[in-house]
Amino acid sequence: MSDSDRAPRFETLAAHAGLHPDPVTGAAVPPIHLATTFERAADGSYPHGYIYARTGNPGRAALEGALATLEGGAAAAAFGSGQAAALAVFQSLSPGDHVVAPADVYHGVRTLLRDQFERWGLAFTFADLTDAGAAERAITPRTRLIWVETPSNPLLRVTDIAALAALARARGIPLLVDNTWATPALQRPIALGADLVLHSTTKYMGGHSDVLGGAIVARDAAGFFERIRTFQQTGGAVPGPFDCWLVTRGLRSLPSRMRTHCENAARVAEFLAGRKGVTAVHFPGLPSHPGHAIARRQMSAFGGMLSIEVTGGAERALAVAGRVKVFLRATSLGGTESLIEHRRSVEGQYSTTPESLLRLSIGLEHPDDLIADLDQALT
Ligand SMILES: *Cc1c(COP(=O)(O)O)cnc(C)c1O
Repeated sequence: MSDSDRAPRFETLAAHAGLHPDPVTGAAVPPIHLATTFERAADGSYPHGYIYARTGNPGRAALEGALATLEGGAAAAAFGSGQAAALAVFQSLSPGDHVVAPADVYHGVRTLLRDQFERWGLAFTFADLTDAGAAERAITPRTRLIWVETPSNPLLRVTDIAALAALARARGIPLLVDNTWATPALQRPIALGADLVLHSTTKYMGGHSDVLGGAIVARDAAGFFERIRTFQQTGGAVPGPFDCWLVTRGLRSLPSRMRTHCENAARVAEFLAGRKGVTAVHFPGLPSHPGHAIARRQMSAFGGMLSIEVTGGAERALAVAGRVKVFLRATSLGGTESLIEHRRSVEGQYSTTPESLLRLSIGLEHPDDLIADLDQALT
């Protein structure tokens, strides 16, 4: 096979995500179709495949096609937020079904399970999925889904996706990976054996802190994903046309943004690891990180997120956050601007995050400016 016959590489696929010159005008970038309804032909058929915008529309189809391509899946369903995507997954299970999720799962997902789905009859166990024995013990005869998030939020714990996928497959249980933090630029869960991938596209995929979105990508368009698709179309928690357009645009620069996020985060983590007043740096790129070897195996780089613990507990953590000038004190992640957040105080009643922890989303600034800012804030 000559190199020109080879399938395009990830960067090439991303740079062209959702781009097809408009057949009417030749415009290089697709228009935003605001139509909620589509014309039927005289014979009653729908010649373009679209009927009504909730069930499907051109902008959402373009985004879903791009997401499926980048994750190596067969199909994708886009939602109005990451939480709406999670909701669709849980609604596609049945009362009495059991879910295994990580002990430090994203706090919004934990809140959904505890406050909403327990009442609807869904059972769940939170377990340390970085420990294969603990993962196995959490499975019951009613387990219908294993949910994992790696690296995890906010402790950056790393789970071996291939090992967990083997465990799930042997029992016929689907495995879902929340790939929001790594993105397919760094980690491809479906290639590692996962069945479903969840994204908050609000984060790195949108990439500019200006659009809320979520998605599920599936290895197989049939089976469990069909229920998720039906819930998307009938439940209607879908992104609007402009939101789809913004996320698709974000995908085109994802690989190069991720490269800079990763380089900057590695520089900042190295600085913080040696800094007085910092008692822990949670970053999988550090050789001392307990998940470093697995991260090396399943990720092509270590991501743009890290968290630190500081001496002096919550009071000093909040004081350090209070002194930053380049970092913005705000929640969320994955934008061009660096963010710092005292995580415990936003996570609410079920938080298991240490009081002394600050979470950092490393942006696209010059790393020396970020290091200088943290250095003065820690002094
Ligand atoms: C933000 C986030 C979510 C939730 O997504 P929203 O778009 O805020 O609803 C889920 N998982 C992870 C890992 C996240 O960071």
